[in-house]
Order: sequence, then C-alpha cells, then structure tokens
Amino acid sequence: MKANNYDIHFDVCNLFFELVHDKKVVGFAAFIVTQPSAMTLSDTFVLPEFESQSLLLESFLMLMGSGANISILKPARNVVEFLIKNNFAAKLTDSIVTSAISFDMLGEDIISNFNLKEFTPSTNLYDLNLCSPIFLYDISTPGVCEIFYQDALDFDDKKYNCREFRDSVNMDEYFNEIKESFLKNSDEFNQKLFDLKSSLPKSLLDYDEIIGEGDELSDYFEQMVEDGITDRKTVVRIRNQLKNEYENGYVTDRALALRVSFLLNEDENIAEINKIDDINMQFDTFCPYCHSQVSPSNPHCMTCGYSIDETNILSLRDIKK
Ligand SMILES: [Zn+2]
Repeated sequence: MKANNYDIHFDVCNLFFELVHDKKVVGFAAFIVTQPSAMTLSDTFVLPEFESQSLLLESFLMLMGSGANISILKPARNVVEFLIKNNFAAKLTDSIVTSAISFDMLGEDIISNFNLKEFTPSTNLYDLNLCSPIFLYDISTPGVCEIFYQDALDFDDKKYNCREFRDSVNMDEYFNEIKESFLKNSDEFNQKLFDLKSSLPKSLLDYDEIIGEGDELSDYFEQMVEDGITDRKTVVRIRNQLKNEYENGYVTDRALALRVSFLLNEDENIAEINKIDDINMQFDTFCPYCHSQVSPSNPHCMTCGYSIDETNILSLRDIKK
C-alpha cells in the first residue's frame, strides 16, 4: 500500500472484508456503521494488477442484500471507476459522474470559500479531473457558485496528476462551467440519478421475509424477540404498522429493513434528527414521516425508509409550522 501512496483514512472499522482472487488476499474493504442499516466504506485498497476485477462487488451486493444503505468516504477515483463499471454510477459529462451510492466528505478536507465548521456533506457527484466528490452547495442563486470539493488524495495524485490539473485551471471558471451545465440539464441529470438509484440491487429482506403471510410473526421478527432485541408487543406493533404502510404505498420492499431498524428505536432516532441544526442543511426538502432532510432524488428517506415523492415531500415552511 505504501508503494502506491495509499493512506488509511480510519484505523477502526465495524466490518472488514478481505478481497480475494484465486485464493489469495489481494485487497480489503473496511466499513463503518453510521446509522441503523447504513454503512460507509471508509477504506479500500486492492493491488493495482487486480483493480479491474471488481472485487469490491461481492461485499457491496452482500450489504445491499441485507438491506444496508452504502456510502463511500473520500472515494479514490478507482472506486468511482468501479461504480461506473458496475452501473452504480454513470457519467453526466466527460468529467462529472453521478452515483447512486453517495460520497461523504470530511469537514477538515473540504475546500471552499464558505465558512465550514463540522460540515460533512454527502453528495452523489464526483469530478474525474479533480479526483474529488463535488457538492453543489448553492448554484441556483443568481451570481452565486458555491461548490465544495476535497483535498486531493496522494493515491490519486500519483495516478492521475490531479494536483497538477487543479493548479493548471482557473477554478472559478471551471466551477462556473459545471454550474451552467447543471442549470441547463437539471431534469436530465436528476432523472439519471433517480434511474440509477431505482436499479440498485434490492434487499433480500423483502415483504415475504419480514412481514410474511397471515397473522403469525415471520421468522425475521421471531428471531428478534428470541435474541432479546425487543419484546413481542413492540414487534407486533411494528409489523402491523409496516403492513399498513406497505399496502398504502408508503414503504417498498427495498426500504423495509431500514424502516424496521428505524422503528425499533423510533424515539431516540427522532430525538437525533431534532438535534441537527441549520448549518448542516444539505437539502431544503424533508421526509413527511421523520422530518429529516431528504434529497428529492431518493425514492425513500434514507433515515426512516418512508417512501417520498413530489406529492408528500415537505418544504422548510412545512417543518417550521
Ligand atoms: Zn424519514
């Protein structure tokens, strides 16, 4: 790893996968659990000669199959290339990529002229020239072009000379071009992202697995009671609520597992959401169920799993009432 300039971002993780080729370990992927049913790929490395093999795919499919929502912290460009190759992401322009799997940036690495403290934006966009996720903070106010990106990784710089690129262009002009492109093509770009998200592998924990037939509890819920995660009364209440929501189109198979983990600790989760203040505002649209910020490009709320669309999504004014 040293020879390839790969620096570990975090030295702790919750889930560790060895990437194996021909019975030999040739890389790894480390994930941190950030929320119930949400994992961030914090570090991954694979020997250069195996990069084209998509060895990360197995861990992604396994986590998605279990209903987890994956994001990637400070992705290196080769990880973004992996996403494109496996239809998790697609190019919008020659250099801008949109990804169904979101990218997280750390406040300390973010570059912007905006006063950012404790701000850890999540974005679905990546710029292949800069080798960085980009977060369009404000491009819709006339005359404003606020775009955040992150420090170059040594690992990327060695391969793609992204620092040289950053030094060689006028960044204001470069970002203005991105802004114009997004303002001109916003419908098409949003649709692309929506389509990518809709075609992500589905959770294997679907309606049959979680809710099941008739009045009897599914094995999924029975196991929860047996493991002492919660009591039977709570499980029955959650099951009935989900059944009702499913029948009325408020939750889909894809989000059921996420919704179960949210409802299991609903009071604590709502209290967490209420703590988030305005400085962390990434979207000005909100989930009708839990009131957390949601991107309109998501088919469901990433916090509570409730389905969202233009008919039920809330605005800031609805929330402040
Ligand atoms: Zn929600």
